[in-house]
Amino acid sequence: MKYRKMGSLDWEVSALGFGCMRLPTKKENGNDIIDEEEAIKMIRYAIDNGVNYFDTAFPYHNETSELVVGKALQEGYREKIKLVTKLPMWIVTERDDFDKYLNKQLEKLQTDHIDIYLFHGLNNQTFQLVKKYELIEKMEEAKTAGKIRHIGFSFHDSYDVYNEIIDYYDWDATQIQWNFVDHNTQATTKGLEYAASKGIAVIVMEPIKGGKLANPTKEIEEIIENAPVKRTAANWALQYVWNHPGVSVVLSGMSTFDQVKENIESAEQSGINLLSQEELKIISDMTTRYRKKSIVPCTYCEYCQPCPSSVSIPLNFRLLNELLWVDSTEQMREKYKYFASKEEDLNAKNNYGAASLCTECGECLDKCPQMIDIPSELKKVHLVLGEDNELSGVYKLFLRGPVFVDKEEFQIIGIEDVGKRENRNTAAIWAKFQQEITAVSSRDASHGLGIRIGTEELQKKGEERYIVSNEVSSTEIVPEGMITETIHAQKYAVFTHIGSLINISETYEYIYGDWLVNNTRYERVPWVAEFEWYDARFSLVSEDSELDLYIPIQAK
Ligand code: SF4
Ligand code: SF4
Repeated sequence: MKYRKMGSLDWEVSALGFGCMRLPTKKENGNDIIDEEEAIKMIRYAIDNGVNYFDTAFPYHNETSELVVGKALQEGYREKIKLVTKLPMWIVTERDDFDKYLNKQLEKLQTDHIDIYLFHGLNNQTFQLVKKYELIEKMEEAKTAGKIRHIGFSFHDSYDVYNEIIDYYDWDATQIQWNFVDHNTQATTKGLEYAASKGIAVIVMEPIKGGKLANPTKEIEEIIENAPVKRTAANWALQYVWNHPGVSVVLSGMSTFDQVKENIESAEQSGINLLSQEELKIISDMTTRYRKKSIVPCTYCEYCQPCPSSVSIPLNFRLLNELLWVDSTEQMREKYKYFASKEEDLNAKNNYGAASLCTECGECLDKCPQMIDIPSELKKVHLVLGEDNELSGVYKLFLRGPVFVDKEEFQIIGIEDVGKRENRNTAAIWAKFQQEITAVSSRDASHGLGIRIGTEELQKKGEERYIVSNEVSSTEIVPEGMITETIHAQKYAVFTHIGSLINISETYEYIYGDWLVNNTRYERVPWVAEFEWYDARFSLVSEDSELDLYIPIQAK
């Protein structure tokens, strides 16, 4: 096993960490339960072969993962590893809940201390609870009492929120979702590097994107077969993550003995900056292909479950996503028929509820770390799989999303043009901006923003403000001819336009003429800025180009 630095902590961690959220299961009275005997064998085999980092959490496997991990760590195994679990933030309703859950977890895990205790799945909302209930102080008290050794958080939200949380406390560890398809979402590579630069140990989850990257499409299989280095698809994904110097440990949620063995072998080949330029190019080609094949960005984490109407949300999304991967609509429609479309059929169908059972109650929305508009997507799943509509008729294959993002207030410096959109020479404004913005050292050059701001007065004349800009950390120096503006904190529906800019009007047509018109929960916030977000994925000449469109929304 290869070992790596664990941030500023004085121990070395195995490159591979064992994620205990996808332990092997078996059926008992129609329910999926952990196959304890197999899970214990797998955990002990991993420890015997050098894995020294184990990650579990309160809700995994219907709150039974911690119990099984606790059993597996008897007979001297506990002392050989670092054990990590998490405070379930979404059910914390008062300060005392901290002790209630931690004590329960220690009991289930049959241990007197947790090596790293994480706030589970921090986002903008749950971070407010950390402050409101002074939970950092509770963490420190637990540390003084010897119940926990180190303090950290796992995370699912945007880069802005991540940055704010990182700067809020002197964390020991942070757990983020990062893989070769998702490196520009959530904490992002920039966030990973920022945390690592502060000496915080970075734990990567979902390196294989919920197993998705281990099951290549035909196109990706071809790339892998033609590669000069022979690796499985899963191994390519893992090596990409291990290659980054800022990563301490990579978690894999393993469900079979073979996966444990294969991942241990992969970890033994791992290292920092080991991948050649040619190998990185191969991975970049795979990234492009995968992006084009994902319809719904679900990682099948099941945080949205259970649904009060018994919709098996991740299973429905999996069928839809697999449709493009296996290239067989009929096969997926047959599988969809197995799901219960009426409540009374649920028992007979193993409690697998079809997308059509969704009542759009919205209860699942805040639980999804990928910020997916679950009820809207489920409607589309049913149209394609349950009502035999053409995929291309339901899904606009030139766009993805939306996902929901709560963006903090930010400042920009840029060039403004006020007038009619059709009269604007957008390319010339961008060219001028790119020349002049280099004088602003406080800018964030990782992305550019094309911001549109309307006012009632301008609308009467058919005009708008358009500002080509960069986010900045200071507005002390604003070059002549440029302006600065503050964009206030706001919730956005983010759509990704794929391909040439020539078709962008179709994407806007879908957003304004379909999604917003038919949305029962959200409406556009009047007169608030919307913007185009251009980053490294954008290219004027590539059909794989991606551009994000941020539309400000509020609950109806
Ligand atoms: S919105 Fe639909 S899928 Fe989500 S919890 Fe409600 S019924 Fe279930
Ligand atoms: S919809 Fe969201 S919460 Fe539910 S399984 Fe998919 S990613 Fe997880």
